[in-house]
Amino acid sequence: ALMRVALEVQTSRALFARIFEYLDMEPAIADAPDAKDAADVPGPMGRIEFRDVGFRYPGAREDATPTLVDVSFTAEPGETHAFVGPSGAGKTTIVYLAARLHEATAGTVLFAGEAVRRLTHESIVDRIGVVTQETYLFHDTIAANLRYARPDATDAELEEACRAANIHDTIASFADGYATIVGERGYRLSGGEKQRIAIARVLLKDPPVLLLDEATSALDTVSERVVQEALDAAARGRTTLVVAHRLSTVAAADVIHVVEGGRIVESGSHAELVTRGGLYSDLAAAQRQ
Ligand code: ADP
Ligand code: MG
Repeated sequence: ALMRVALEVQTSRALFARIFEYLDMEPAIADAPDAKDAADVPGPMGRIEFRDVGFRYPGAREDATPTLVDVSFTAEPGETHAFVGPSGAGKTTIVYLAARLHEATAGTVLFAGEAVRRLTHESIVDRIGVVTQETYLFHDTIAANLRYARPDATDAELEEACRAANIHDTIASFADGYATIVGERGYRLSGGEKQRIAIARVLLKDPPVLLLDEATSALDTVSERVVQEALDAAARGRTTLVVAHRLSTVAAADVIHVVEGGRIVESGSHAELVTRGGLYSDLAAAQRQ
């Protein structure tokens, strides 16, 4: 039994590393014994739905305010839903619940019309691409780092993904090209270059769902613009949940949700929210100054 546990931990770690850019996190919950594969559910692939979702981090005191309260929204296939609001509001938590990294403590998170607690974690994560502030590259060639997303990708496919992610010309300018060793002791790529490699990975994987958590927040203005263009291209045709600090990057989202104190306090398009004169219009006014 111990062997099996050790194996499961290893598998989930590898799985997680394949999708998420962190190596020090893994899903906190195990699959249900009769968990289904997301490929076997009839609902529309790419739809993400939260129904009255509440969440409390494990270990939080019973009387502490929950991290999320009554969070509800439906992202239809191909839509972009943005989450904005103060630091600590619960935006990252919402995005990670969609990937079933945590289990909702109230309500239901649905993936393709099925409750995520009835799906295997692997089959969910296989259908999600993630870009966060921190991109992890292995100490290996750029090509190997890219093939991590799709081992059988051809050189032509790597190049196509890198062109779409605005990073091919940079890689081609290196003496060793795609054979350049990167990672801890390798060639030191800039933050923006690493982000674009992460985006190329997502394009190779071609998942129906994309999660972007402050993907451009750590970048300077120039790299931010280049990375943002690559992200916009990657989001096309995928359901995208995006957490962003800068409101200008989410103004084009189909729906913007303003999160405050673990609740969605306003939802609507940029134009609707600005007209409403609530928290969003305050945030927008503050950022214009
Ligand atoms: P945001 O992304 O909007 O800044 P988060 O979703 O990261 O907010 O965090 C929401 C709240 O949950 C914060 O109060 C934060 O301190 C808390 N929190 C985040 N991660 C954990 C964790 N792993 N364990 C306990 N509390 C956490
Ligand atoms: Mg966050």
